[in-house]
Amino acid sequence: MIISRMKPVSELLDYVAGEEKIFLIGCGICATYCASGGKRELMFVKKVLEDAGKTVTGMLVVEGVCVVGRTKKHLEYYPEAYNSDSIMVFSCGTGISVVADLVPVKVHPGTDTLFSGAIVAPGVFEEKCSMCGKCELEWSQGVCPHTICPKGIFNGPCGGVHDGKCEVNSERDCAWAVMYERAKRNGCLDELERPREFKDWRDNIKPRRIVVRSGKIVHH
Ligand code: SF4
Ligand code: SF4
Repeated sequence: MIISRMKPVSELLDYVAGEEKIFLIGCGICATYCASGGKRELMFVKKVLEDAGKTVTGMLVVEGVCVVGRTKKHLEYYPEAYNSDSIMVFSCGTGISVVADLVPVKVHPGTDTLFSGAIVAPGVFEEKCSMCGKCELEWSQGVCPHTICPKGIFNGPCGGVHDGKCEVNSERDCAWAVMYERAKRNGCLDELERPREFKDWRDNIKPRRIVVRSGKIVHH
């Protein structure tokens, strides 16, 4: 899931200073889950904008603003969106960009996109992967060195590890200490000791795009 949080109200109001008519778009999937852009949040923003003397011309929640065709189709039923001074979008940055690509009016981001995360409990989200393009979780025992270690160290713990805790945040276990314990448990400590090739970052060159046909990547 893509984790985002609503921007502070003061920032949203700054964006629309000088504008009168604003259309709101939320996302019915990720942003609804993390309470940054579902129906409830749009109602909240509507009231904030109206209290500031603005007109909210309409609201739309798309089940996945990131699905370009779906968002485009929905927008066809909302001509008021195109007749507004701006559209404020409450989804991940991908969804916001999708709307900006589709409409001929100014688009404001209503959220800050934080990370791709696991839902570990209702309302609790944790980053596990930074989507680097070449996964290292085999030798790293399912602990991402790029993400769980704040320094992103790929070749062993830094000198700051103390009693298995991370020097950046002493409440957290050192990623490398966790890797070591798991490797020991799994009987594969040699995987940590083995020299590795330099990491291949080519699949991290942005913007990334793939085309999948019949379950196969046909263009990269
Ligand atoms: S190595 Fe880490 S950042 Fe890269 S794909 Fe695997 S989990 Fe994600
Ligand atoms: S203590 Fe461990 S997790 Fe923390 S920065 Fe150093 S190597 Fe990374």
